[in-house]
Amino acid sequence: MTRRMKSSQLPPSLRGALLMTTLAVTVLSGGLSHADKTTARADMPATVGYSVIKTARSTDAKEMLVVSGGGWFKDRQLQHNVVLIQHPKGDLLIDTGLGRNVDAQVEEMSWMHRQLLAYADVYPLIDQLEASQYDFARLRGIIPTHMHWDHVSGLEDLPSVPVWVTAEEHNFAVHEGKAPAFLRSQFDSPAIDWEFVRFDDEPYEGFDKSKDVFSDGTVVMVSLAGHTSGQVGVFLNLASGNRLFFIGDTTWTAEGIERRAPRPAMVQWLAGIDWNREQNQVHIEHINALAAKDSKLTIVPAHDENVAAKLSLYPVFAY
Ligand SMILES: [Zn+2]
Ligand SMILES: [Zn+2]
Repeated sequence: MTRRMKSSQLPPSLRGALLMTTLAVTVLSGGLSHADKTTARADMPATVGYSVIKTARSTDAKEMLVVSGGGWFKDRQLQHNVVLIQHPKGDLLIDTGLGRNVDAQVEEMSWMHRQLLAYADVYPLIDQLEASQYDFARLRGIIPTHMHWDHVSGLEDLPSVPVWVTAEEHNFAVHEGKAPAFLRSQFDSPAIDWEFVRFDDEPYEGFDKSKDVFSDGTVVMVSLAGHTSGQVGVFLNLASGNRLFFIGDTTWTAEGIERRAPRPAMVQWLAGIDWNREQNQVHIEHINALAAKDSKLTIVPAHDENVAAKLSLYPVFAY
């Protein structure tokens, strides 16, 4: 979080095509490192908590459309969720869900893509925070797991809050991202206060680099580049011993991690969602291994409605 760049300094137009990879999948072991830092620390502040905020749902989809090997007759209602992390040094948002202007933003998509990515029941993050009389002075930063349309739609609703992204994610979104995955109007406002994340050479849970946000082991960011060029994941380690790993869109469902199953090839073909499916699959395998070795760790895909239903929902926090 050292370099800053205003989006007004960036080239104004989106160029090039969204990179798509072949469907070849390399299966690698998790390769968990013994050099990792311990995850539970005595000095962890007890007031660190989280709450999940549902901003919208996607319209009904057959499970076969959201995870390879999914059921033809099983309906899923994926959600567009945000996570609010409460910390004594300042609160963080993971993603922003669908914002106040989402209907205008998706005009950038083709009609076909709007049908494919249809949503309903929008209740923007900003409106929910205002309704609960949330103290906005507490907000320290927004961590979009990546800059896809359904994760940064609400950025412009919170213009004064620093936005932490990797330079890789920002560069790709601005220079190469295109609809339907990336919508330029969501991130071209000069008001957005971008802060680029620099990972430290500190292995964490088998990831080569990490960023211990508050230097207390509670919130640790890692790179999950694959779904997009600069996607990040966030570990949250609570004083209760419970741990969560917010994995963005590495998979859309818990079943994707459990079955080590990528998104269906047809979705990739229709909408070009994944930047590098081979690299994303390495993370799927790795996260599967992490979940197997730690029963206190909950894997949280950004859109899985069944996982969200088991978590603490706003305005209730879990600690
Ligand atoms: Zn998404
Ligand atoms: Zn995505």
